[in-house]
Amino acid sequence: MKIQNYINGNFHDPVDQQWLDNYNPSNGTVYGQIPNSSKADVDNAYIAAKSAFPSWSQTTLEERSRILIKISELLESHLQRFAEAESKDNGKPIALAKSIDIPRAASNFRFFGNAITQFASESHESVGQQAINYTLRQPIGVVGCISPWNLPLYLFTWKIAPALATGNCVVAKPSEVTPMTAYLLGEICNEAGLPKGVLNIVHGLGTTTGQAIIEHPDIKAISFTGGTATGAHIARTAAPMFKKLSLELGGKNPNIIFADCDYEDMLNTTVRSSFANQGQICLCGSRIFVEATIYEQFKSDFISKVKQLKVGHPSEAHTDIGALVSKPHLEKVKSYIDIAKSENGDVLCGGEEVKVQGFENGYYLEPTVIEVKDDTCRVNQEEIFGPVVTIMPFADEDDVLQMANRVKYGLSATLWTNDLKRTMRMSHQLQAGIVWVNTWMMRDLRTPFGGVKASGVGREGGFEALRFFTEAKNVCIKY
Ligand code: NAD
Repeated sequence: MKIQNYINGNFHDPVDQQWLDNYNPSNGTVYGQIPNSSKADVDNAYIAAKSAFPSWSQTTLEERSRILIKISELLESHLQRFAEAESKDNGKPIALAKSIDIPRAASNFRFFGNAITQFASESHESVGQQAINYTLRQPIGVVGCISPWNLPLYLFTWKIAPALATGNCVVAKPSEVTPMTAYLLGEICNEAGLPKGVLNIVHGLGTTTGQAIIEHPDIKAISFTGGTATGAHIARTAAPMFKKLSLELGGKNPNIIFADCDYEDMLNTTVRSSFANQGQICLCGSRIFVEATIYEQFKSDFISKVKQLKVGHPSEAHTDIGALVSKPHLEKVKSYIDIAKSENGDVLCGGEEVKVQGFENGYYLEPTVIEVKDDTCRVNQEEIFGPVVTIMPFADEDDVLQMANRVKYGLSATLWTNDLKRTMRMSHQLQAGIVWVNTWMMRDLRTPFGGVKASGVGREGGFEALRFFTEAKNVCIKY
């Protein structure tokens, strides 16, 4: 199957007729071609977006809101089709795509469709000077949205929905590894009545298509989710043009378990926070620290639960762990298991590729738990982004706080304890954009989302996203 770019409401081949193979990770076969779009395609997308901007930015909030909510409803009505496409493209279990990815993409449109009608700005009276100041929130113009492969439609729409809600027009690029649901979204947008050119979707490699977006002098803001190295490259490229940037990058998140926690809840959630989506979620708790007094008990209970996880074909209802997204990614993740062994890490379970019957060329890996002796070893410091977690004991609060913060990343942290004072102390000191206490990945779309340190710059979510996609202008009127 060949997919095309979505520009000005129509589907187009890439100008240079350059194509990339699209792989099905569950069986390792090529099942389609996608454009490897060039600068010419990005220019065409920009021109369409620029011409749509005057009208879209002047469209009433109610009308923009209505269209976004219509997109949400259409996504919900095509749930099965989108979930199947996502699972096939990415390797994630169909049940996950159906229960999380696609519903969440739909709620992104619904949420920002509603939020824009509540987005107020402030005013200040300059008492004594007889003046009133108010803040205008104006759309930026044409903005670029670039997203990764792990939660393809969910993260693509997390950017596009607030960009459109605030009256911007968009040039967007999904990951070249998982382009399918972004392609299908174009059809839905037409059906929902989104005016031509308001959203344009170009497919291709980061180094060609993505690079053309970030280098485009008139695409004034870039919202990017992906790896830290790519984020640094985007920041360097964009800086001389003073583009506005939101960078949501990698993570190496601590999962900190105290003896006083609700043990069963912690155990079940920790299995999920370690291995959901094959461990390919930036928020996965990939470094597990356990209070020494319950360490041996936890180790044995955790390993026994992990061994019960079923690695299998993504379309099977009972699959817990599907395929990793690509062959190169599988090789990267496996290489960390070798690194762990060379660093005296102890592979407590997993570590081997799985040959799923009938799909022997798929990219499957056992969920893997590595006991490490020293928190500064590479497997504990570098983002692996697969079904691999490390575990080690800690002595006390100070000890674990030091280890938790001793990484270059700072995306999220999870804390398991019933001690309120400790909860407060630790949540305030953990270097992370999000701290979950006695839960994991519970998301309320109104809350700020983002990381500190090498995990990113800026915040998405709620009004933070609407602020990012607008320029604040102060108007001062003397009366
Ligand atoms: P990646 O950085 O390789 O690619 C992300 C996107 O950027 C893709 O669309 C890619 O084509 C594009 N890209 C690559 N080079 C580019 C360039 N030079 N110019 C413009 N665009 C370019 O990341 P990935 O492998 O797709 O995703 C995995 C990474 O994403 C992990 O590090 C993960 O932690 C991170 N991630 C972060 C969050 C978050 O919210 N912080 C969420 C999900 C994933």
